[in-house]
Amino acid sequence: MASGLRSLKAPLAPGYYEELEEVLVSADLGPAMAVRLVRGVQARAPRSREEAADALVATALSLMSARPRELITLPRQGEGRGGGPDLMLFFGINGAGKTTTVGKLAHRLKEQGHKPMIVAADTYRAAGIEQMTAWAQRAGVDHFEGRSGADPASVVFDGIHAARSRGSDVVLVDTAGRLQTQRNLLAELSKVGRVASKALEGGKYESLLVIDAVLGLTSLVQAREFNRAIPMTGLVLAKLDSSAKGGAVIAIESLLGVPVKLAGVGEGMDDLASFEPHAFVRSLFET
Ligand code: GDP
Ligand code: GDP
Ligand code: MG
Repeated sequence: MASGLRSLKAPLAPGYYEELEEVLVSADLGPAMAVRLVRGVQARAPRSREEAADALVATALSLMSARPRELITLPRQGEGRGGGPDLMLFFGINGAGKTTTVGKLAHRLKEQGHKPMIVAADTYRAAGIEQMTAWAQRAGVDHFEGRSGADPASVVFDGIHAARSRGSDVVLVDTAGRLQTQRNLLAELSKVGRVASKALEGGKYESLLVIDAVLGLTSLVQAREFNRAIPMTGLVLAKLDSSAKGGAVIAIESLLGVPVKLAGVGEGMDDLASFEPHAFVRSLFET
């Protein structure tokens, strides 16, 4: 331990910054963001590895979103509310982790005393609806699904009304996977967002892009295009338990100003975590 501390306090080795840049690129920050971070560290003139690590954390945090990372606060059951229910809409490419995230969050909200309803607006694939329904049953929460082939916006509209009449305080919407290049499917998502925010009648609204940490920097392009179609209030970084570091979210947050609000850390019901930027940035270069 003593020697470990000594090496942390030892002056920076020649080539330190080149090595740091490589580590950052391999953590999926992308070359441009890696260079920005390295310059930020250099500008703080650290005298040891320990100081460099602190400088890196400070630089990264200064580039990340300053918006709150908590999900909309839901009134406690029984508290008065205007309009409502509240709603969280999840979208992203196929396999990102949308359905799993909705299932885990429904479980968490129920544990917290809420009455969530899952709406399966993924109407293009019967198996998609079945998977979401199975999660709702595991979590022990109410669910609503559209007819196969129905317009997802109409399913969300009907789902909100069903939630209201059944006394659910929060609606979690799972949507069909789509690529950021599928213009008609992005337009469909825009419509879902518009219809949902209107039907909420004053209820709060959260629109969340789910990205897969394993996919690295490609999620930067995804985030930019999805955000054009449907302004995002937050990101979910799924599969952070994989070997992938998820560094792309620094670039996304810096570019779009949208914060990561949740992290997926496994396939189980309890594997959903709040996103801790400080710990996240430290883990980026702990190799
Ligand atoms: P969707 O197509 O976006 O709805 O993605 P799914 O929720 O069906 O997830 C796709 C796959 O990723 C499934 O096998 C999930 O179990 C897995 N998955 C989702 N989230 C996580 C996570 O946080 N960690 C791990 N290890 N696997 C996950
Ligand atoms: P996953 O949970 O992300 O795996 O979602 P699904 O596998 O249920 O994804 C639905 C698939 O249907 C996606 O590959 C879509 O690209 C495709 N699809 C085909 N036509 C449509 C359409 O008109 N709307 C939507 N939303 N998806 C469509
Ligand atoms: Mg799904």
